[in-house]
Amino acid sequence: MRQGATGLAQHQARLDHPGAHLERHAHGVAEYRALLDARPLAELAAVGELGEEAIRELAREYATTKPASILLGWGLNKYQHSAEIFRCVDALGALCGHIGVPGGGVSHGYNTQRHFDKTVEAADRATHHRAIPEPLLGRGLLEAQKPPIRMMFVNSGNPVNQSPNSNRVAQGLAGLEFGVGIPGTLGGWIAMNAGIPGREVKDVVQEIEVISPTGRKLSHLPRARLRFVYRSLCGLAAGSLILSALFRVTPSAPGSVRSAVDRLLAVRQKTQPLNVPSFGSVFKNPPGDFAGRLIEAAGLKGLRIGGAEISTLHANFITNCGGATAADVLKVIREAQAAVWQKSRVRLVPEVRIIGGKA
Ligand SMILES: Cc1cc2nc3c(=O)[nH]c(=O)nc-3n(C[C@H](O)[C@H](O)[C@H](O)COP(=O)(O)OP(=O)(O)OC[C@H]3O[C@@H](n4cnc5c(N)ncnc54)[C@H](O)[C@@H]3O)c2cc1C
Repeated sequence: MRQGATGLAQHQARLDHPGAHLERHAHGVAEYRALLDARPLAELAAVGELGEEAIRELAREYATTKPASILLGWGLNKYQHSAEIFRCVDALGALCGHIGVPGGGVSHGYNTQRHFDKTVEAADRATHHRAIPEPLLGRGLLEAQKPPIRMMFVNSGNPVNQSPNSNRVAQGLAGLEFGVGIPGTLGGWIAMNAGIPGREVKDVVQEIEVISPTGRKLSHLPRARLRFVYRSLCGLAAGSLILSALFRVTPSAPGSVRSAVDRLLAVRQKTQPLNVPSFGSVFKNPPGDFAGRLIEAAGLKGLRIGGAEISTLHANFITNCGGATAADVLKVIREAQAAVWQKSRVRLVPEVRIIGGKA
């Protein structure tokens, strides 16, 4: 995406659209042009998986369709270089003259982000309100006074990843690094007690806000009342919805937060099949062992049923090699359970929740 946006911008800069408005209104235009010229269009097209012709056509479209409104999807914030991608697309929007004009712009947020009816947030109970604009989240958190911010209440999203100023955010918040690369929402994270070996949601959560299945009762459950087990939170009434959570974070050196995050992402990229569709780890790790190791020991890496395959990179992942059905996946799950039982006498229990069938 970053390469695609840069390619578009590069071609755009060469069209009969010199971006004179930019020279007047923006800083760093010369540096930006140098950045655009640093790599040939063909190279950007190859890395960004967009053909050169597609880039030229899109660039022409952006130059002639005015005003254009560019909407960035939510999934973007999951990428390792999300902040840079946002910046590249922002720059492209500015270069094309779509920013600051009625009907134009680059948007990172939608009304649909607001999943819940604001009236259930018990606004009457809040005694002190303050607002930090999302693009300034990092700086705002660090500089807020009276009182300074020591905890953050995260509501139905992951603004830490979304904030363009991710360095500042990292500077302000340490303790949630383990979550990098675990896809999902806040509610899913908590309901699944998401985590990695040695650290999970239960270690950082202080309180959650839950609404009853009928939507009538709002409760704040402190940590002491939450019963987290491996990849699950027990005890919530069926159908309850987690609305928000309070996490304990600590101020830390930005470099150490960033290097922890980079290290965790690098491990994921090396050990997990992230370039093909999957639903993450399939089985819980049995005490003192790893489901992936047991499946591999049973000789099942690469086992394929229909479109579902036990990943050759990480045996606890089932990947969709094309057209996998739920039935294919369930068959692979059963096959793995049977083979591991036969080989190691360990019963593998699915970590994923299966709806409408049994593993
Ligand atoms: C590539 C990949 C890697 C992964 N790596 C990890 C990992 O390292 N560690 C890990 O723990 N998981 C991992 N997962 C699994 C997944 O990311 C987590 O289980 C995550 O917590 C799921 O979040 P979700 O929002 O998608 O929830 P869903 O999968 O949509 O839901 C999970 C459960 O939570 C419930 N739920 C969701 N939202 C709410 C809410 N607001 N209130 C109450 N209940 C709710 C659902 O009803 C469901 O029972 C990985 C998945 C993938 C695809």
